[in-house]
Amino acid sequence: MNNLTSIFKEKKLKLTPQRIAVYKYLQSTKEHPSAETIYKTLQVDYPTMSLATIYKALKTLVEVNLIQEINVGEGNFRYDGNTSPHSHIQCLHCGKVNDVEGVCFTSLNDKIKDCVDYEVISNQVYFYGICKDCLKNKTH
Ligand SMILES: [Zn+2]
Ligand SMILES: [Zn+2]
Repeated sequence: MNNLTSIFKEKKLKLTPQRIAVYKYLQSTKEHPSAETIYKTLQVDYPTMSLATIYKALKTLVEVNLIQEINVGEGNFRYDGNTSPHSHIQCLHCGKVNDVEGVCFTSLNDKIKDCVDYEVISNQVYFYGICKDCLKNKTH
């Protein structure tokens, strides 16, 4: 908790129960939940928290780079407590999002330098496929 207090202080953020709840939940999961999922999960402990409040808390946390917003397509926003650069893969069947680990895509920034007139700072690579669970269900 102390840690969180200093993080928020550093970002000059007021430590509201809503922000703490959203931030902590995202730190505790690798599921890359949507705002609706976060809302449903937090409702158990915070029955008075509205979806609008969740959206506001998410927006603030993204702005100060405490969490990242990932757009897997079609305005389908997911949230990630891991703000280090990494890629994602989404299942086209059930919609779940996983991290792609063990491959570094920052070298791509160097690769495209010659193709564009930009100073390349970052990239977002998304992969799409069918997850193990969905593959298993298909064969049964
Ligand atoms: Zn799936
Ligand atoms: Zn991630």
